[in-house]
Amino acid sequence: MEDLKVLEPLFRMPLFQFFVLMALIQLLSQVFLDRRIAFWLSSIATTLLWLKNYDPITPLKAWFLILLIFSVYMFPKVFFHFNLFLFLRGRKRCPICYSEVHWKAKACPFCHHRFKKVEGLGEEK
Ligand SMILES: [Zn+2]
Repeated sequence: MEDLKVLEPLFRMPLFQFFVLMALIQLLSQVFLDRRIAFWLSSIATTLLWLKNYDPITPLKAWFLILLIFSVYMFPKVFFHFNLFLFLRGRKRCPICYSEVHWKAKACPFCHHRFKKVEGLGEEK
């Protein structure tokens, strides 16, 4: 239990509390709803609850963080067809059959599509 004391300052941070509250609402709503809908529902609900009971600065910071994380993931995906999560697992997606293959593969083992030489990209066009 002594180790948990290290976490105490973290739990005192309003921003961390905001995300804990959001995660709890997310977990609850995920029982009934689709994950994506649950995410938006929980973030909006937490923001509204926080604005009603606490300060307006914490939700602002939290939304800034959420958008920052989203943009790190979304921009490469939309503009360069680069999927961060696939890349971290060392995979890329075949543009023909949408199977995950090794990022160094020259041809898709499932549909035999030949990849162009854009190595290191998570998803190829
Ligand atoms: Zn394929």
